[in-house]
Amino acid sequence: MEHIILVRYGEIGLKGQNRSYFINLLVRNIKSSLKGLEYNLVKDQGRILVEMRGGSKKVGEGMARLKKVFGIVSLSRVARVNKDMDDIQQTALAMVQEQSPGTFKVETRRADKTFALKSPEISRAVGAYILGNTDRTAVDVHNPEVIVNVEIRDKAYIYTLVEKGPGGLPVGSGGKGVLLLSGGIDSPVAGWMIAKRGVKLEAVHYHSFPFTSERARQKVVELAKIMSGFAGPFKLHMVSLTDIQTSINQNCPEEQGTILTRRFMMKIAGEIAREEGAYALITGESLGQVASQTMESIYVTNASVDLPVFRPLLGMDKTEIMVKAREIGTYETSILPYEDCCTLFLPRHPVTKPRLDRILQSESHLEVGRLVTEAVNSRDILDIS
Ligand code: ATP
Ligand code: MG
Repeated sequence: MEHIILVRYGEIGLKGQNRSYFINLLVRNIKSSLKGLEYNLVKDQGRILVEMRGGSKKVGEGMARLKKVFGIVSLSRVARVNKDMDDIQQTALAMVQEQSPGTFKVETRRADKTFALKSPEISRAVGAYILGNTDRTAVDVHNPEVIVNVEIRDKAYIYTLVEKGPGGLPVGSGGKGVLLLSGGIDSPVAGWMIAKRGVKLEAVHYHSFPFTSERARQKVVELAKIMSGFAGPFKLHMVSLTDIQTSINQNCPEEQGTILTRRFMMKIAGEIAREEGAYALITGESLGQVASQTMESIYVTNASVDLPVFRPLLGMDKTEIMVKAREIGTYETSILPYEDCCTLFLPRHPVTKPRLDRILQSESHLEVGRLVTEAVNSRDILDIS
């Protein structure tokens, strides 16, 4: 028996002229996600077959990785056997036994019309064999717990489970965006949501070394690595805000510290976007969550750049964001308790309704251009994969 992962894609199948461009990107991303595993990939009539080598453990690993690849709508573990009724029946039985459902039915598609039995005859024979070799399993043709699918083609293909993929569009089909990646819960989720629409990420993290620790840095690298499972390989720009925060601290009213810092974050990310050919910034802001995310704060922060800023979590509650973070595998790392640069010099009473004219007034006491350029030029760039 051979192990195959059957990959189905949806939305990208609709893209008319661009269809093959999207499918080629999807194939490239699938290959990138399966790096280190042995397999053979075949495009087959509107779906992709990944023939895995190395036994069922490796198939499980392949499934887990492919479940993160955007553009994939669903996947199935498929057994491929000879077009021989004994082989087909035994394989189908083994699959049903694995799940021991209360009810099942068999559905057959016969693409190879030379096969001796017709579809309903195959279904009946396989069904009877399963019934004869299991206890407490019954046939239910209307509402079965498990559907045993049998396809007769060049060989016989058998599968029972259809598992959900993440959907969306293949990463790389939708331009590039710069994600402001903190060590928190929200920004990795924001990155996931925009990467889902085909956007290739570039990430920027701000630290205040030596006030923030090496462990805080490691945590962000770890988060980025988890993210590369769905976003593909990307660059992580590590930018120091130490000089900027010190300068703000010395020259501006304390309660404006956070909002002024956030404007610098945006400006620096905007510069990096320009250098890297990205056309949008992405943040994990959620309306009203904290002082720096009120309508007024977002207005003032936003006014520091002229690129579009995507805030895919804007309308989500924290609990909804946490559910998503668990789902995409970043939550456990995000909650590690290391300090964030934003908590340094944190004002005791941050302004919740900043006024742009006053913030610009404060900024006029800072050498904004020089500080931004120095921060951008002294950044470390890490390749994440
Ligand atoms: P998160 O959970 O993503 O840290 P948060 O709820 O803590 O978000 P803020 O600290 O106000 O909210 O940050 C809002 C957004 O600003 C973050 O989602 C992220 O996009 C960006 N951001 C904040 N701190 C940093 C940082 N140190 N480096 C890069 N981006 C940051
Ligand atoms: Mg944060």
